[in-house]
Amino acid sequence: MHRSRRAKIVATVGPASAAPEVLESLFLAGVDTFRLNFSHGAHEDHAKVHAAIRALEEKCGRPIGILMDLQGPKIRVGAVRDGKLEVAPGEIVRFALAGGDGSKGAIPLAHPEIFAAVAPGHDLLIDDGRVRVRVTGIGDDWIDARVIVGGAISNRKGVNLPGTVLNVSPLTKKDRADLAFGLSLGVDWVALSFVQKPSDVIEAKGLIGDRAGLVAKIEKPSALERIDDIIRLSDAIMVARGDLGVEIPHEDVPGRQKELVRACRLAVKPVIVATQMLDSMIAAPTPTRAEASDVATAIYDGADAVMLSAESAAGQYPREAVEMMDRIIRSTESHKMYRSIIEATQPEVEETPPHAVATAAADLASAIHAAAIVAYTSSGTTAARIARKRPALPTLAITPNRDVSRRLCLLWGAHSVLSDDVHAYEEMVAHATELAVAEDFARSGDFLVVVAGIPFAQAGTTNNLRVVSVS
Ligand code: PEP
Repeated sequence: MHRSRRAKIVATVGPASAAPEVLESLFLAGVDTFRLNFSHGAHEDHAKVHAAIRALEEKCGRPIGILMDLQGPKIRVGAVRDGKLEVAPGEIVRFALAGGDGSKGAIPLAHPEIFAAVAPGHDLLIDDGRVRVRVTGIGDDWIDARVIVGGAISNRKGVNLPGTVLNVSPLTKKDRADLAFGLSLGVDWVALSFVQKPSDVIEAKGLIGDRAGLVAKIEKPSALERIDDIIRLSDAIMVARGDLGVEIPHEDVPGRQKELVRACRLAVKPVIVATQMLDSMIAAPTPTRAEASDVATAIYDGADAVMLSAESAAGQYPREAVEMMDRIIRSTESHKMYRSIIEATQPEVEETPPHAVATAAADLASAIHAAAIVAYTSSGTTAARIARKRPALPTLAITPNRDVSRRLCLLWGAHSVLSDDVHAYEEMVAHATELAVAEDFARSGDFLVVVAGIPFAQAGTTNNLRVVSVS
């Protein structure tokens, strides 16, 4: 069983999709990686979903990726008077570090890190940016701010501080407990929320080690300022357009998406475009034209994966949303303009054998109209380097490492196959041919381009290309 598209689908699991039979229908409809959102749900619920996905993997004989998404240091106001405070432009409100009575003169904000970092002129955005206030004065335990955009401040609404770098660990106490739990289950990816700076990634990687890949969620302006280092240190990136669209102007999000996708492709790191992709499908069986166009744009940009959030977690049409995403990707990838758009960005090739061989494999396979590239990859990087070229034909990424086979479920164009190591050159040729035929990528008369590192099973040794004719 293989997908007839290159870009991958990530779907968030929630009440609408946690039942094993729904997970199976979503996988069959096109999900490559499931996202467990640790902002919601108890550990036992996530454990059940994890077990159901692993059982599904066993049943279908295909690797499936599992990504855990940590909540991160989410900032909220406390309880306000009567549950809701109306504030008008020009009014001055006061936030209190402790003991706030919930009036406009003492809105509880129990986050000392804000009081240590905020300065006059900084903005606080409340409730996804619906209310905007600008700091006018600050004391040890109070912040005064003028209302710029008025509206309602309700109990426990989220607060974003786009212009302020907070001196906080990217992992709260809850995140650390969730992370330990997720890693004990055996998730493949950990998504880190509200990354502000490269050291946040280093801190999280120190805890994760090589037990999972790290996805840095880009949703803060400060992360954009240090993006090259953040991409270099991370294993993948998520364009988290929900919070990003609160922290930077809406009109800047599309350009930033393009920049991030391109930068990740150059850096050989998978990139997920996320949030509100088919949002209206939470409550309707079809998307808006604009949403269909948004998914297609991410595909034309060259994203490795596109993501469903509430559509698959809590919506009424989770399967239809996955089917729709699958159809939009396939239609986009087969459109006559797709190749010229995707090939317009051609990264320079680093002058090292692994990079040059991977690039040559993609060029060679295109030139001889091969049916597929077969890449022997122990760490997944050979497959990622080939994917960087965005070749017009599929790549079978063959690995003996189960974790790698699952992580490849996020990578553009890779059809990962878990298989025992090969040990000899001619054995590899026979093995590659057998698998390509068995997985329905090639038939008699086709060419394959086989890429490997010799000696076998050593990461980073991609040094060999072979054209094979399937007999
Ligand atoms: C986002 O903000 O776009 C995002 C993916 O993060 P979350 O859903 O965790 O808020």
